[in-house]
Parts: sequence; C-alpha cells; structure tokens
Amino acid sequence: METNSLVWFRKGLRIHDNPALDLARRGCKHLYPVFVLDPHYLDPDCSAFSPGSARSGLNRIQFLLESLRDLDTSLRRLGSRLLLLRGEPAPVVCRLLKDWKIGKLCFEFDTEPYGLARDKQVKDFASDCGIDVHSPVSHTLFNPSGIIEKNGGKPPLTYQSFVALAGCPVDPCATTYSELPPIGETGDYELLSVPKIEDLGYGDISQEELSPFHGGETEALKRLDQVLEDKAWVTNFEKPKGDPSAFLTPATTVLSPYLKFGCLSSRYFYKRLQGIYASVGKHTKPPVSLVGQLLWRDFFYTVAFGTPNFDRMKGNKICKQIPWSENEELLVAWRDGQTGYPWIDAIMIQLKKWGWIHHLARHCVACFLTRGDMFIHWEKGRDVFERLLIDSDWAINNGNWLWLSCSSFFYQYYRIYSPISFGKKYDPSGNYIRHFLPVLKDFPKEYIYEPWTAPLSVQKKANCIIGKDYPRPVVDHENASKECKKKMGEAFASSSSKKQQNHNDSNEIASLKSKRRKKTE
Ligand code: FAD
Repeated sequence: METNSLVWFRKGLRIHDNPALDLARRGCKHLYPVFVLDPHYLDPDCSAFSPGSARSGLNRIQFLLESLRDLDTSLRRLGSRLLLLRGEPAPVVCRLLKDWKIGKLCFEFDTEPYGLARDKQVKDFASDCGIDVHSPVSHTLFNPSGIIEKNGGKPPLTYQSFVALAGCPVDPCATTYSELPPIGETGDYELLSVPKIEDLGYGDISQEELSPFHGGETEALKRLDQVLEDKAWVTNFEKPKGDPSAFLTPATTVLSPYLKFGCLSSRYFYKRLQGIYASVGKHTKPPVSLVGQLLWRDFFYTVAFGTPNFDRMKGNKICKQIPWSENEELLVAWRDGQTGYPWIDAIMIQLKKWGWIHHLARHCVACFLTRGDMFIHWEKGRDVFERLLIDSDWAINNGNWLWLSCSSFFYQYYRIYSPISFGKKYDPSGNYIRHFLPVLKDFPKEYIYEPWTAPLSVQKKANCIIGKDYPRPVVDHENASKECKKKMGEAFASSSSKKQQNHNDSNEIASLKSKRRKKTE
C-alpha cells in the first residue's frame, strides 16, 4: 500500500549516497523532506566569546545555512523541496508524523549522545503509533556497533586493531534520481525559507569576516573532484607530512566540514580514492594515506560511541586523570590569539576567522594549551574548537583533544611542539603570521617568531611595540614546558601506582575469596 513518508535530515545534507532518502522515497505516495532548525544549536547567546550561539560561532552556522540552501535547490530540481521548521526537533517531528499521517519515517543513524537521546524520543513515539522507522548508518564507513560487537563488546582502542577488525566498507548507494515523489498537504504549518545569517539575531555582524569555505553538497562534490584531479598528489598523500602554514592552498583536502555535515559521503569519498589507487597502482597506505585519514575518522567515531563519558575526563575510563590547572587569563589569551607567540596566535586567529586550520596547526595549539605550556584542561580547549570549527565534530574533536593532551591514545608527553621553531621550519619568512596577524606584518623575518627579542629600534621601524601593540609572551616556553613535563610525569606515575594498587587490591580480594572457599570446602 502506498504511504506518506518523511525523511528527516540532520546531518547527511546530501542527495548522493543517502540511504535514508532512498528508503523513504520507495513506494510512497507523498515524500516530506524535513529539516528542523534546532534552538539548542542556533539560539543567540550574547554571553559567548564571539557572535553566534552557545555551541557555534557564525562560520559553522553560515556553513549549515548554505548547506540547507543547496539541499533545497537540489530537491526542487527533483520536483520536491526542503520543508524547514524551527523548534525542539523531537516534539516538532512527532507532531508532523501525526498531522501528516506519516506511515514511514527515515533518518540517518546518529551516534552522538545528544542525537541518540533526541532520536530515541522520536523512535519511541513513531513505534507507538505503528509507524515504520528506518535509521540506516551512512555517516561513517562502518557501523560503530558492528565493530564493537566484533571486538567482544568493547571498542578497539588502537587504530591498528580497529583497521584489522573493520575490513572493507559497503559501497555507497548507486541510485540517482530524475524525480522524487511529491510533497503532500502540509496543513497550517509555518514552513520557512532558509534564513540569512543576519536574520538569526546575532547582533550587528556586518563587520565579521566569514569563512572562505562554503557549505553544500554541490560545493563538496566540486571540491572532491578538484582534489582528486591530481592523482599523483592523492596517491602520494602522507600525513603528518604537509605544510600547516599553507593557507592559500591548504596542504590537505579541506573536506572535513563537508564530511561533518554529510554534504559529502565518506563512503563515496572512499570509493573514489580506491578507484584512483586501482588506476595508478602504487600509493601510500593507512595510517598516512587519504584512505587512512577516513579510517581515523571512523576509528574515533567507534571509540566515542562505545565509551561512556567520552567527552570528559571524569568518569571516562580511557582518559588519564590529570590535575589540570585553572587559569582563565591564560585560557582567554590562548583563545583570543594573544599569547605573544605569533605562531600560536596566528593559528588561533585563522581558527576564529576561517573556522578551519591544518591538522598540525591544531596539534600545536592544543599541545600549547594543555601539556606543552599552559597546563589547562583539554575540555576547555575542546569547547573553543567545538564552537569555532566549521568541521566541529563531537567524536573527532574529543578524540583528538584526548590524544593531544596525552590523556588517551598517545602518551609521549615529553614530546612538545615548540611555539617558535616548529612553524619556522615550514615558513621561515613568516608569511602565514603576517597574513593572520597584520600587526606584525612589517617585522623582519629574523624576529617574526620571537618579536619580543627584537631591539626597540626594530620594533619602532615595524610600527609594533611589543607589550603595547602586540603582547609579550604570557608564559616562558622554556620554563613552562619543563614544568608541564614534570607535572605530566607525576600524573602518569600516580596513575600507574593507582593501577598497581587496584591490581594488588583485586589480587588480594581474589586470594581471600579463594582461602574462604577452601575453608568451607
Ligand atoms: P584531510 O587530511 O584531507 O583528511 C580527510 C578527512 O579525514 C578529513 O576531512 C577528516 O574527516 C578525516 N581526518 C583527517 N585527520 C583526522 C584525524 N586526526 N582524526 C579523525 N579524522 C581525521 N577533525 C574534524 O573533522 N572535526 C573536528 O572537530 C576535529 N577536531 C580536532 C581537534 C584537534 C585538537 C586535532 C589535533 C584534530 C582535530 N580534527 C578534527 C582532525 C583533523 O585535524 C581534521 O579532520 C583535518 O585537519 C581536516 O582537514 P582535511 O579535511 O583537509 O583533512
């Protein structure tokens, strides 16, 4: 029997490789493609440190709106359109299911705690109403539950064990559409057109510089084609090689925001890469290759899905318990690009303005904030990244902060990025710094990474007096990094002695139990 179907978009903002859309449109009379603007993500928060909502700065909101506009255009080309509503998504969708007499509901499976709780409400309601619910996995290459099951109920905690379990992903859906079923009656619902960012109440944002990267499936597929055009680049791709200071032509694909919102399917990306590897023959391999990067993404999704409290230190079994310091002043200096270390500050300004920074740049600033120099909690840095990145992704962001702070996955805390010499290796003239910190643009290259060492005459000539126009270093790297190493060493020693103590305690309990058993036998 023909029914009304509703496809609920959240991530997965695309037509290609979209099993939820494909399942929804099959055998239906009317297809309702819905997106609900969620106040949880979008409501203005004027107490936040930059314009936007509590959870997101302007760049990611803009990226989302562009992606929605593009999705609406694509749906219209297929004789449909995006039905946009605003409100708490779960109750809004439940109301639509009833009012539009929906018989089949389809949405992509979401592994994030917020998404899981939201989806459970809708799933329970739909099932109680006898609605057929489909929730296929298509945001990742693999089903995280499947991998965890294969691993005996626990997520694999190393990349190598993950890769060994994962095998090959299923192929993306090959279906292309010439048209989609029509939309049915929508009653008196207020259906919105995709708003402009200026209309969302974030105050006067006319002076804000927005990201050069624009959202949407069309843009994603165009960027993918451009990236894959250079087969030699693709087959030789090797991370962490690559220049973090290259910003006009970044050294990596910048497909992360498209993967985050699902404008690009990771399975489709993977398949295209395999096609190139097959046609060329010799190519780099995981973990350093491009396919290897997609596997890192799935690795973090799997561990995050299977680890309670993954996004915090307390109650997180895979996270080292480290007595991080509280220092609001240092945190704000780091967040606002005011540490006095131009390499660190330029990266933080690029993050603020563009919403995207190179992987190694993320390494440098995350290390600096946590175990390298400031000894501030990784959750504080995670929050800043979460708000400002256009590719901000719950599993990947938390996973990488755990990694960089040596709280999990990686433990070589004595390997610290120098805020001076690391960037200099790639960009001795400091062009990256000059671009993102124009206050330093006239500094001679000898001093651009350490402007506080320049004689006053040089500072005057460069029209930038250190301590007045640009800050002096807020910490002394030499001493701060030594102090951090000492504290990390102590935290690691204490955690291993606690582990030993726990081990001894459980051995003692076991031996007492066995003695008692023998006595009673
Ligand atoms: P490419 O090198 O071209 O890689 C292709 C894709 O592989 C990426 O788009 C991404 O989806 C995936 N990928 C690459 N590196 C990683 C990695 N280390 N972990 C997981 N997936 C990876 N990435 C995010 O997508 N969202 C985040 O919120 C995020 N936060 C991070 C926080 C810190 C502290 C660090 C060190 C890294 C973080 N990353 C995050 C991982 C990585 O830096 C970005 O995915 C990458 O720089 C994005 O650029 P790209 O698309 O050009 O990557």
